[in-house]
Amino acid sequence: MDFHVLTLFPDMIRTALETSITGRAIEDGMIRLNAVNIRDFSAEKHHKVDDYPYGGGAGMLMQAQPIYDAWKSIVGERKDRVRCIFLSPQGRVFDQQFARELAVEKELIFLCGRYEGVDERVIEEIVTDEVSIGDYVVTGGELPALVMMDAISRMIPGVLHNEESAEGDSFGDGLLEFPQYSRPEVWNGRQVPKILLSGDHAKVEAWRREQSLIRTALRRPDLLETAAISPKERQFLENYLANENRE
Ligand code: SAM
Repeated sequence: MDFHVLTLFPDMIRTALETSITGRAIEDGMIRLNAVNIRDFSAEKHHKVDDYPYGGGAGMLMQAQPIYDAWKSIVGERKDRVRCIFLSPQGRVFDQQFARELAVEKELIFLCGRYEGVDERVIEEIVTDEVSIGDYVVTGGELPALVMMDAISRMIPGVLHNEESAEGDSFGDGLLEFPQYSRPEVWNGRQVPKILLSGDHAKVEAWRREQSLIRTALRRPDLLETAAISPKERQFLENYLANENRE
């Protein structure tokens, strides 16, 4: 997977992505990172990349020309369209399903906004997907792009080693993950659930599945609408929640 990032802060992107698991994936050649400094493409003699918005209003906007030329330096005259993602609080909200969808691409371009945003015309010209990481505003598109690249990387076969498998992760099967415990057996007077010490693999799996169902029902009931749950599991949850309400 080739990640191209159009940004005013390429070091921020490199430092974060070249760390830990994504850093190892870069070293192993499973991911290639190309952080492109938009400022290098400014036609203005002081390398300015922003200007006032027409019609007035607070703040500055990133201008179209440097962004377009930075994008052109990646796609050149290629006819096949590389997906170009503009990070924006106004976009489709990113989730695990979307990460899975993007992980099959060979190449992705991320456009990181700054200031009050980006001249709309260059968005219309080059952007294929406008993506938000949630209903709040951060100062720039770099952190959102890093969040997306990290989540997408976990879906690329071979990036995670066996012991880091994404299989049981929250959202993997549409449910939240079960609670987990490590040594010691008792900490601060709190005992690890006995079943996890039983050595009975089938019972442990059944307990974990139940815990996933309960957690999801209590914390994110909206996920149950689309999660793959058997009729027996739905019945189990109904009984569990009825009991909870009675207590
Ligand atoms: N004025 C813009 C608006 O209200 O839509 C917000 C500008 S924000 C201060 C600067 C940049 O941060 C945006 O252009 C975008 O690239 C990025 N950004 C901010 N919040 C984001 C979010 N929730 N998801 C993705 N990108 C975001």
